[in-house]
Amino acid sequence: MKIQADIIIIGAGISGAVLAERFAGEGKKVIVIEKRNHIAGNCYDYTDENNILVSKYGAHLFHTNYKEVWDYVNRFSKWYDYEHKVIAKVDGVLVPIPVNITTVNRLFGLSISTEDEMCKWLDANRTVIGQPADGREAALSKVGPVLYEKMFRHYTKKQWDKYPEELDASVLDRIPVRTNDDDRYFSDTWQALPKGGYTQLFKKMLSHPNITVMLNTDYFDVKNTITGYDKLFYTGPIDRFFNFKFSLNEKLEYRSINFVSETIDAGNFQENSVINYPGTDVDFTRIIEYKHFGNQVSEKTTVVKEYTVSEGEPYYPVPNEKNRRIYEKYKAEAETLADVYFVGRLANYKYFNMDQAFKNALDLFEQLRIQELKNVLETL
Ligand code: UDP
Repeated sequence: MKIQADIIIIGAGISGAVLAERFAGEGKKVIVIEKRNHIAGNCYDYTDENNILVSKYGAHLFHTNYKEVWDYVNRFSKWYDYEHKVIAKVDGVLVPIPVNITTVNRLFGLSISTEDEMCKWLDANRTVIGQPADGREAALSKVGPVLYEKMFRHYTKKQWDKYPEELDASVLDRIPVRTNDDDRYFSDTWQALPKGGYTQLFKKMLSHPNITVMLNTDYFDVKNTITGYDKLFYTGPIDRFFNFKFSLNEKLEYRSINFVSETIDAGNFQENSVINYPGTDVDFTRIIEYKHFGNQVSEKTTVVKEYTVSEGEPYYPVPNEKNRRIYEKYKAEAETLADVYFVGRLANYKYFNMDQAFKNALDLFEQLRIQELKNVLETL
């Protein structure tokens, strides 16, 4: 069998689906090649045996400040407002994360009640560091050594198999600190979940007569049968594309997650959708109880413990100096290829949030469209 289309896309996750939808809308024939037996990449969700909508690859909370991304995703699904909250179990006590007034009061038996008092507490406890050089300095400069030890150091080790000092500051900078009682995990303008789940949203994006999706198809098994295209977009791990040629001595690292799912014969297991376990007493990082998303009703409940591991499907790039150095070699190689584009979290080796992945793919499409228009004008 020969594979031929104007646009070939490897991977049916966010980046692949956006590009497929955009090019198909312009009248291009698109083939999406997907290794897994489903679309939607790591956003894939489904209704499980307890009649609860669960995400196969961990909870996905959409939040954005990009109006164009918000408008775009609203074209494919209705959304309901959802402000995500996370609780952490610290020394046996449940506290909000990001750290806020309640967190500090509960952990230290204080009665801080104003922003001013909270700022004073933080100033007295945090370590002043002008430009944090790594994850440890980033966390210390926000919350100081005691909260760092209780909430960030060991969680990070479990998540990355590295201590915060071995990671870029940006990793720990994802978590803010609040001087008020705001217990939302994110503070973006739009925070919502798609009604009916992400899979149906992707289905809608990809349901265009110009788009063919080939599931259960590994690009590396079929690449010799691809006979022609204008452009090819690759959204998988960049080192795999080049057969790991720069990774003989040093691997480009990724983190995977072992999701251990359980049905509990009870209405609820925990009081919140996500409870983080930043201590060394357990090996998992967090427990997700899916029925909290969208207040789902079921006699039983599905809970998933997340154990982060080094082997398995790559979910997270590992942002630090060493990996950046290896990635740059692949990137330079990628830039020598004509008509092949590397897009998304794994191909760009960037810890994108969902909205950033949407934006990055939308921006790439726009850039290419402008380039094409320029080319046409030049030939006139
Ligand atoms: N983090 C932590 N303790 C927590 C939550 C997060 O130390 O309770 C650190 C950890 O290094 C983590 C990073 O902050 O990898 C980013 O957390 P986030 O919740 O954004 O990670 P994701 O949801 O992408 O897994």
